[in-house]
Parts: sequence; C-alpha cells; structure tokens
Amino acid sequence: MGAAWIAIVTARLSQHDDPVPWLSPKLGQARTMRWLTPEEVDLTLADPKVADPEVVEDPGVADPSMVCPVACIVISGPGGDPTMFEAYWKKMSERSAVTLAGSQSLSYNSDTKNLSWYLEPKLEQEIRRLHAIVSNVAVEEDDHYYIVVGTGSSQLIQAAFYALSQPPDAGDRPTTVVCAAPYYSAYPEITDLVRSRCFKWGGDARSFERDDEPFIELVTTPNNPDGAIREPVVNRPHQGKVVYDLAYYWPHFTPITSPANHDLMLFTISKCTGHAGSRIGWALVRDKEVAKKMIKFVDVSTIGVSKDSQLRAAKILETVSDSCSTAADIENFFVFSRNILKERWNRLRELVKVADLFTLLKYPIQYCRFAKDMADTIPAFGWIESKGEEDCAELLKKHKILGRCGTKFGVGKQFARISLVSKDEEFNLLLQRLSIIQGTDLNH
Ligand code: PMP
Repeated sequence: MGAAWIAIVTARLSQHDDPVPWLSPKLGQARTMRWLTPEEVDLTLADPKVADPEVVEDPGVADPSMVCPVACIVISGPGGDPTMFEAYWKKMSERSAVTLAGSQSLSYNSDTKNLSWYLEPKLEQEIRRLHAIVSNVAVEEDDHYYIVVGTGSSQLIQAAFYALSQPPDAGDRPTTVVCAAPYYSAYPEITDLVRSRCFKWGGDARSFERDDEPFIELVTTPNNPDGAIREPVVNRPHQGKVVYDLAYYWPHFTPITSPANHDLMLFTISKCTGHAGSRIGWALVRDKEVAKKMIKFVDVSTIGVSKDSQLRAAKILETVSDSCSTAADIENFFVFSRNILKERWNRLRELVKVADLFTLLKYPIQYCRFAKDMADTIPAFGWIESKGEEDCAELLKKHKILGRCGTKFGVGKQFARISLVSKDEEFNLLLQRLSIIQGTDLNH
C-alpha cells in the first residue's frame, strides 16, 4: 500500500447501533475522525463490508507513532451527532474554555439549600438567563419552575416517567407511555429498558384507546424525526400527564412563536449548543412534588450529575447568551447555526426536486419572537419519503448513505431520517451520494 494516503470509510455507527464488528472494540466506538494503526488500516481495507474506502489526498500529517499508510475514518452514522456546531465553537475556543483546578468538584453536593442539591448555581443562573433571552419559556413570569438537571435529557425522560407514574399495587397495569408516530426512536428503548412495573411503552399515541387508564404522553415539538410542530393528541387531561420534549425549541431550528409554559418541559445542551458529549439536560418542572421525585431518580441512579460537566455547560450557555446581546463582539450563535442549516436545507431541497424520487416535508413560516422576523422551521433532520421504492433506508444504503429506517420511528419503511447537523465534509458527501441516486452526480 502507498505510503501516505488517507482512506475515508463511512461506517454505520450511532449510539443505538452495534459497534462496527470488524474494527477493534475501541475503534468501533469512535464517532469522529481519528488515525488508524497500520493493522486497523489493513483490517478495514481488506473487509468487504467496508463501504468502499475512498482514496483522497495526503493529509500531510503523520502521527509519529503510526506507521504509514495513514488512514482515518469518517463516521457518518444515522444518529444525530451534532458536530455541525464545532465550526462555531472553534472560533470561540478561548472564550468558552473552562479551567478546573484539581481542588474543585470534590463534593457530591453543590447547593444543599436548593431542592436540587447537586445543581451548580452557575448552571441554574445561565439556564434561566438563556431562556429569558430567547423567550422560548415563560421563566420570567410569576410562574415558578424548578430546574432538574440530568445526565442528558435521556436520563430525565426516565426520571419524568418515574415521577409521573404511580407505584403499582399488585395486579395494577403499568402506566402506558405513548407518543404520536413518527416518534423519537429512542423513546421505546428508554421506556422499556429496565422493564419497570410502573410504566411501559404503548406505541403510537393516535391508537391509544383505553379510556379508563392513566397514561403519559410525550410531545416532541419541533418533532424528531420530522420537524413537525406538535400538540398532545390524546385528549384526556384528567387521566394523562404530558411531558414536553423541547430539545429543538431553539431559534436555529424553529421560530419561537410563544414562551412555552407547560408543567414539565425537557431541554438538552446536545441540541441547543451541540455539546452532546457533555451530557447535560434539564427539566423545567412546575410541581414541587414531581420535581422532588425526579431529583430522587437522579440521586439514586447517578448521585447527581457531573459538576465538571455542569460548569462547562454553564460557560457554554453563558457564551451563547453573550453572543445574543446587541452589543456583542462575537457572532450570534443562533444566527450562525441557522444560516448553515438553512443553506444545507436549500441545497438538499434543490437536489431532491431534480428527480421525482423523494419527498421532503414543507414547514410553515411564522413570526419568531427571538429573531423579530418571519422564519421557518429548519429541522436538524431530513425526513424523507421514497416515492417508488419500498424501503427508503435500504435504497440509501445501496448508495452508501446511512439513514435510520422509518420503522424505528413507528412508521413505514418508505420513510428514513438523515442527519443535517453533521460536519461539512460529511454533509457534502451525503449530497454527493444523493445526487448519484438522483442521476445528477455532483462530481460530473
Ligand atoms: N429528545 C430528543 C427529541 C432528542 O432528539 C434527543 C437526542 N437525539 C434527546 C431527547 C436526548 O438528548 P440527550 O443527548 O440530552 O440525552
């Protein structure tokens, strides 16, 4: 093999898929570009399952501990790893950096006077400040919300189910958890993972018909995977509890039409700023008893949440809020991110309309209180429906595009989800491969 070239291998990886079996277990978990050892290169290139290694140029960098040939992998999984935001944070590297001394964060506790005893006061302050600036939640009005922080909002989804369902007496059925399809593909797994006796997954909310039973409905708005603006569909407020998953209710994704003021709302830094790796999510909870139970869940399952991550998240949110000030000397984070995503959507739509193979949803234009202008929803994901082919994800896969199949979201195989929040090079590769399916190869 040549001495200095780079092989780009697109591998199927996401947090919900198995590691790539033909890579070493350590490498199989990798999500970003990294150097491979010569043995890994040989293994990778020799394997027929590798989605065609592409030879591109000499990167001009060689890790002295690695012998040539040099290779790296680009993971372009069907998950929603929000690496698109890296470009902004590279510019803000110094401003958003946090230094933690060895003497910091030793105690489990952060503020024993707070109901949320593990919540870092600085994080609470920055969460409230950002919501007030963006005006996506009514935090400044008379309403009081308790903030419950979790290890990602994934942990808080379970905490909410724990808090909202009744401890069952013998013979009781668990509370049914439903969400209108297409729903976020992790909800069924999160709900049923520990086979709780208190709650269980019930599938599509539109087909939930048991009139006499308590239920929990998840309302994701804008929705993952299809970006739709949603409201509850099970109309029985006295029997059911609603959990609003507002992971995408931020101005880069959608117009902020009014401050949300629901009883239980979930947010995550993963989608707000792109820091999925810091694993910080927060719930805004109106009822003190519900908040207490959610805190108990986090207490018992992980004895609080990493203070290091909380302090980092606080700094990141602070930088975002600072960037939104009219006197800011840095680029507005939401404007920057929206522009990139908008440009990607325009390119995707242009490409898709060339041939009559796929459809993409259209989104309404509404007044955004944050932008003080009209804006449309530009979701983090493309939700595509194939017109002719039965299995959309399979069709994409044949062209080495890794989408997540509609069946994982509770709908048919004619749908698939692709991520629009990957890095530029991955997105360009995606468009290039889509253009081949469309018969308009961008390379030619
Ligand atoms: N809710 C929705 C709708 C999501 O899309 C995601 C992430 N894909 C989550 C929750 C989980 O986010 P976190 O990284 O905070 O666990």
